[in-house]
Amino acid sequence: MDMITGESIADRVRGILSNIRTAAEKSGRDSHCVRLVAATKTVPVEHIREGMDAGLSVLGENRVQEALPKIEALAQTQVQWHFIGQLQRRKVRSIVGLFDLIHSVDSVELAHEINRRAGEVGLAQDVLLEVNVGRESTKAGFRPDGLVQLVATMAPLTYLRIKGLMAIPPPTAEAESARPYFIQVRNLAQAVVAERIPGVRMDELSMGMSNDYAIAVEEGATLVRIGSAIFGARHG
Ligand SMILES: *Cc1c(COP(=O)(O)O)cnc(C)c1O
Repeated sequence: MDMITGESIADRVRGILSNIRTAAEKSGRDSHCVRLVAATKTVPVEHIREGMDAGLSVLGENRVQEALPKIEALAQTQVQWHFIGQLQRRKVRSIVGLFDLIHSVDSVELAHEINRRAGEVGLAQDVLLEVNVGRESTKAGFRPDGLVQLVATMAPLTYLRIKGLMAIPPPTAEAESARPYFIQVRNLAQAVVAERIPGVRMDELSMGMSNDYAIAVEEGATLVRIGSAIFGARHG
């Protein structure tokens, strides 16, 4: 139970799933096309289980060392794992195949490394390309300009399946201020689709977090990554 709101993790999960449905309907979208990815960094497994009982089916982790024991602890469940944090090239080998989707491919070099390691174990790894929509010097990701050309260079990588885009807009005081960034992500995905690059799909848009997910859903998000609105503020 949260000391302040009195809401349980399960209550919050149900509330968010309901808000996602409302936002999808508001924009004429089918809410089944939107998946909630629970961002579980620093969250203990007992709390994750509470959320799963209320309907969480996809978990997003940021750090390889933290994720591996959690994946082990929840191995008997049907939950899906997504990798959402910055990924170092030397860690790629330990995660290919363990995560259904890597949201955070932020360089051509990382794409090549994932392709190489996935090829070694004979599987295809689904990924999203992270776009630095705010063109922030402190943030990882591909610059929007030139993305289409770079996608074409990564498309031939046999063991890498590009499924869409991910973005974290610059922090804004009002959730509404993130809307232009979400629109920009959707437009970029459309620009990639227009190139008809063989093997590249833009089915998934990973955008929206605790503060702005409803707006992201209105603008086309298919994956929203939500942490604090489910599990409370992080302390570590
Ligand atoms: C922590 C995290 C989130 C969730 O952030 P909240 O504001 O707590 O919802 C989403 N995406 C990424 C990449 C994160 O690291």
